[in-house]
Parts: sequence; structure tokens; C-alpha cells
Amino acid sequence: MKSAPTFLAALLLAGAAQAQPRLPGPNFPAYRDAADVQTRCDSGLQGAKRQVAALQKRKPDAGWLAAFDDLTVYFEDQQYPNDFVLNVHPDKAVRDAAQACSLRWADFASSLGQNERLFRALKKAPQRDAIDAEFVRLASAQFEDSGVALPGPKRARAKQILDKLTELDQQFNKNLRDAGTRVAFTEAELKGVPASVWEKASRDDQGRIVLGVDYPSYVPVMRSAESEAARERMWRAKVNEGGQANLELLTQIVRLRGEYAQLFGFDNYVDFNLRRQMAKDGATALRFLDSVTGAVNERERVELQELRAAKAQHLGTPLEQTTLQRWDATFYSERVKREKFSVDQNAFRRYFPPQASLAFAMRIIETLMGVKYERVDNPLWHDEAQTYVVSDATTGQAIAQLYVDLYPRDGKYNHAAVWSLRGSATRLGRTPAAALVVNFDRQGLTLDEVETLLHELGHAVHVDLSRTRYAATSGTSVMHDFVEAPSQMLEDWVYDKRVLALMQTVCAECPPVPDALVEQAKAAKEYGKGSQFGRQHLYASYDLTLHQSAKPEPLPLWARMEGATPLGYVPGTMFPAGFAHIAGGYGAGYYGYLWSLVVAMDLRTAFAADKLSPDVGRRYRELVLGQGAQKPAPELVKDFLGRESNSQAFFDYLKR
Ligand SMILES: [Zn+2]
Repeated sequence: MKSAPTFLAALLLAGAAQAQPRLPGPNFPAYRDAADVQTRCDSGLQGAKRQVAALQKRKPDAGWLAAFDDLTVYFEDQQYPNDFVLNVHPDKAVRDAAQACSLRWADFASSLGQNERLFRALKKAPQRDAIDAEFVRLASAQFEDSGVALPGPKRARAKQILDKLTELDQQFNKNLRDAGTRVAFTEAELKGVPASVWEKASRDDQGRIVLGVDYPSYVPVMRSAESEAARERMWRAKVNEGGQANLELLTQIVRLRGEYAQLFGFDNYVDFNLRRQMAKDGATALRFLDSVTGAVNERERVELQELRAAKAQHLGTPLEQTTLQRWDATFYSERVKREKFSVDQNAFRRYFPPQASLAFAMRIIETLMGVKYERVDNPLWHDEAQTYVVSDATTGQAIAQLYVDLYPRDGKYNHAAVWSLRGSATRLGRTPAAALVVNFDRQGLTLDEVETLLHELGHAVHVDLSRTRYAATSGTSVMHDFVEAPSQMLEDWVYDKRVLALMQTVCAECPPVPDALVEQAKAAKEYGKGSQFGRQHLYASYDLTLHQSAKPEPLPLWARMEGATPLGYVPGTMFPAGFAHIAGGYGAGYYGYLWSLVVAMDLRTAFAADKLSPDVGRRYRELVLGQGAQKPAPELVKDFLGRESNSQAFFDYLKR
């Protein structure tokens, strides 16, 4: 999940009204060229300054909180599209101009976060009810965390650091987007890889096939290339994509975060960051991670032994002389799964064409949550990007919009993520908008990728079905260690036969996935759980440990921590150089995936009897998704489950 910076930010752009049904809100702005980006940037920032100046003059009266939230609305309309388009626009000049503009917005936001007059007025403004009180509590926390209450020199330094962090994170991501890493293979080296992956790829002057490291190329090679040398080259290229430059950026980022926390009297950034999350502090998060590893590490060892045996058998080498390498893990895990469970992820592609898969994922949401998705003809940043209007099925009212960008292309964000582009604000009748960005193979999705799609749609739904009073507390603006719960909750819907049967309601010509195949995939997923959680544990504990270090050294720490795992560290590789999560908003927060999964599994218990129950789905929509951050996350869960949340379902699953 990605979302624009929290201290958010204009005038509604003229609504586009092309197709039926009409978009409930304005269309995504067209950025014609770099000059256009710049013009919008200048006028947007000028408008923001005027709005802040007007608010500063206003007495904290009954309308003050709404006027303050109007600033968020303004940021959303002016800044968010800019910060999003730098990730997806096909024209590099536009992306670069948007990136430059983004820094100016960050500068504006960090100044606003230190605006004492607004901070004082916020605390004096009359509150009508608990929703107002929570809004004020969260906004005050943002002011405080931006340094508004620090003494002069510290405050100036805080702003400097915040602005610098935005710049460094941007550069980190830009290096990944524009890396253009290519790897050349002979046809023989690609033996085992489906021809559809490489037959249309370009060739170098020696006639070798040239592949990028985007998911539709990378994953099939790692999964299916018989040649160990080919897999090794592909793996090394991917893991080194960010390069030395990104390692240096990450070092600076982590150092600056440490310094930032110290300005506030904290020893390290972890405790500073976690005090407002569900986990509360670093020690609690680390204890939790320990209990996860305790539950899975034996299983991981057993799984890896089995993969090693599979390699020995495949190559005809004695077991004692066979070493399982990092670039072997996916390949042999696929083989073992094929042998043990007769599962081949590629076999799912014919059942899941990309467009039909999207319609299928939407049908799940429609069935559960009482909404309807309709595609409309609407110009966006790229011809292949799609627009959907989300309506309430009961009232027929259009309540949100969703943009979807399915396929990889050069210079596009290369993972899977959702951006919240506009939050809900019932006080204004303002409808939300989200953008879902993935990079799928046009041939179809594996079941793992269908899971990814549902995960991301879960974020989009969190944005789109939000019904909060204030834009600043809408949708995914929840606690960071809760934000992955609604998305992860939906992941295992793809293993349910009744859910899968919905595919034929959106795609009559798609062959139904055989039940046996799904059962096998489910068993295979259970089987790989040791390695999967082992890896998640490593990422999460690396992130926390790095952010607790007094002198952070990303690569040596990684080499030590990855080196202590069963597959070890491969010298010359630099995974942290591509770990964009922790360079950005998930810094000292990656543990939130596992923490949120505990909550997600607890939420799932309400759907145990029926994953398509419209009654439970609507309650969930109303009590959890609809509330955004209007109530603290633990209360949302309690309202929905009728009890305090607990980790029983999660640990039962790990130990099963
Ligand atoms: Zn996510």
C-alpha cells in the first residue's frame, strides 16, 4: 500500500462528464507535458498559501475544524495527482517534472506541520462529538510529529530533515524505476521458461534474448529456468537493481530518521514511530516477531531440506555435495510443489485472463459489500489505464471511483500498490478515488497473482468505501500496522470454491478452475509457509534493527542477518538497495505486514461460515472500512467482531 504523505492537500477541477455512468468526482487531471505539470504546480502552491493565510486569520469557531480539513481536501486535489503521476506517466519529462514539484509540496507540507498558529487554533476549536475529538487528536499528533512544539533550532532542523527525507526517498525510487536493468539469455538457457515470456523480447547483437527484471519476466525465469546459471544471473540482476547509489541513500535516510527521533528525545526512530501505532514500541514489535519465528523456523528448515534433496535428485548429485542457493529456492519449490501437490502456478494462467481476473475480483467485492463496479470510457495517463465508477447497489448512487493500470511498461512503478487519490468527506458530499497499479503478464495470472490482485483491491476498497466526515481521517489513513489488514484479509478468498465460481459469472468463456487444482494450490501454500514467514520475519526484523542502530550500515547488517538464515547471504548482492518499502513510508514499519496479518486472520473468523456473506460483508463495510481512522483501529475491530482482537487465529495457522 502506498499513499501520499499524510499531511495532505484544492479547488475541484472541472468535472469530466463523458460516459455513463458519470464519475461522482472530478477526473484524474491530464498532464500534457512537463510545462503543464509546472503550471499546475505553481498555481496549486499559490492557492495553498492563500488558503493557509485565510485560515490563520479565522477565529477557532464552530466551522474551524471543517475549514482546517479543507486544507487536506486541497492537498488531495492538487498534490496527490502530481505525486501519483510521477510513478506512472509514460513521458519521462512529465515524471521528472512531477518529481520536482513533489519536493515543493513536501516543503510546503513540512512548513504547515510546524505552523504554531494553526496548531493552537486546532486545540481551541470546538468539538461536537467523538469523531471531532479523534480528528483533533490525530491532527495534533501530526503537528507534534512535524516538530511544531520543538524549540527554534531543533524545529528548523526537523523541517530540514523531513524535506531531505522526501528527496532521498524519491531518488531511491527513481533509481529503481529508471534502472532499466537487462539480462541476456540464450534460448537454451531459457529452457523450461514458457515461450510466451520471451519470444517477443528483443535480441542483442549476439542473438541472445534480452529480458528486463520486471515481474512478468523475472518470476517465470526464477520459477522455471532449468539452467542454474540463468537463474543466478537473473536473481543477481534483480537483487542489485538499486545499486550502490541506493545503499548510500538508505544509509542517509536511516541516519536522518535517527537524528529526527533524537530531536524529540527518543533513543531511536523505532520507538518514535511506533508509539502511535498498535504495537506502541519497538520492544513489543520485536517480541511479536520472535514469537512468529519461534512458530515457523523448524518448518522452514524442513522445507529447505526437502528443496535441497530435490536439487540433488534433479542434478543427480550426492546430497552432501549439493548446496541450495538463493536462486534455487523458487525453482525447486515449484518442482516440489509439482511433485508433491501436482501444482504448477503457470497452469493457472489459462483460467485467469487479466481483464476477467479484475472483473472477478470486483465481483467478489460486489457480492460481499453491496456495491457495483462499472467501467467507463475516460481519458487517463495511459491508453491502457481504466476507470471504474463504484456505486452503492441498494441506492444506485455513485459513491467512488477507481483507476486501474494493469501491465508493465518502461518507467512505470514496478511493484503492486494502491494510491489513495481522494478521501471521503461526508461533510462535503465528497467521494473518494483510488488508483490500483500492478504489473501483470498479458497471458493471464497465476493464483499467487490473483491473490496479489485481491490484496490490492482490498486497499482500493478501503479508500473507496470510506464514509468519514473528514478527508484527513478517510480510508487508509489508519494506523500503519493496521493498514495491511483489510487487504491481507481478502487474500485467501481465492482458495474458496464458491468464490472461484464467481469467475464464470464475469467470464462465461473462461474455463472453470478444476477443484482439484485449487485444493493442490492450497496444500502447496501451506507447505511453503515456513519459508514465506521466515522471509517476512527477516524483512521485518531487519527493518527494526536497522532503525535502532546508532550507526546504521545497511549492507553489513543485511549480510549478517540474512547470513544467519538457512540459505545464507550471497556476497556481492545488495537486497536493501531495492527495499523501497523501508526507504519510504514503511521505514521502521515493515513489521506492520505481519502485525496486520494477525488482525486480518482475526477478521476472517467472522467470514468462516461464508466468505460471500452479504450480511457480514456489509457490516464489515460499515463498521471497519467506512470508518477510516475516525476511530482507533482496535476499536473498529472490536465493533465488528464484538470482542477484543486476538492472535489465536494467526498462531493456529502458523502451527497447523
Ligand atoms: Zn498492501
